[in-house]
Amino acid sequence: MRYKRNIKVEIIQWCIVVGIILAAAFVASRLGKSNEKQAVNAESLKYGDEDGAVWKLGGEPGGSDSDSYGVSDVKRGSVKYSGSELTGLTIVLDAGHGGKDDGTSAMGSTEKDINIGVEKKIAELLESCGAEIIETRSDDTFISLKDRVELANNSGADLFVSVHCNYYEDDSSMNGFQCFYGGGSVYGEALANNITAAVEDKGICGTKHSRSENYFVVCNTTMTSVLMELGYMSNREECLKLFDSGYQGELAAGIVKGIIDWYGKMEK
Ligand SMILES: [Zn+2]
Repeated sequence: MRYKRNIKVEIIQWCIVVGIILAAAFVASRLGKSNEKQAVNAESLKYGDEDGAVWKLGGEPGGSDSDSYGVSDVKRGSVKYSGSELTGLTIVLDAGHGGKDDGTSAMGSTEKDINIGVEKKIAELLESCGAEIIETRSDDTFISLKDRVELANNSGADLFVSVHCNYYEDDSSMNGFQCFYGGGSVYGEALANNITAAVEDKGICGTKHSRSENYFVVCNTTMTSVLMELGYMSNREECLKLFDSGYQGELAAGIVKGIIDWYGKMEK
């Protein structure tokens, strides 16, 4: 009798232990999910916007061959191309986030500030090559994604270039520049590849393959569009570089070189 009673007590004790372990695992998984949500919040640009509006994908003029992309989505206007000349090209520069929307943040700084810092440097260089620049925001102002797209689509611009920084909570060693284009965009892919290659040539940071991603601003703008992730703020070393004005200038120079290279391959 005594032996049987002890087994019962043991079973009850084990049940209590297993119950405690299961409860702890459940709590831990809930905490993990809430952290994930915070990390994803930084780049919640995909699809839809805050109004829940559904927009059509941007049209893409058809046809291209391997190294010459045609000019049907670039207004010819008074373009005079001479190697590095961008006169006649109108480019919308989109510094991500702004105002109440910090984007991601790390080490006491916000993505929105880095984005506009680099965007200003890109603007200056492109203007020096003769391009006309339209900014979706020129200071620390909140602009909705829908308003950014509408501004671009009503501007008659030839290109849309969006500037962002990345964040990956699960691996702080993740680093590198990356450029995205809308799915199926032949010209966007070519532009993204040229920008990535030119940044890589600078030798100042790692680069990742450019790839298609259905970010809202990329898919809903009607001109050739790309979205750049300058680097990972979750990587301490890369984050420190992203704050640096000199590094921002080098990145901007690489990006502009990529745009010029791309434009040089257009049929004239
Ligand atoms: Zn961003």
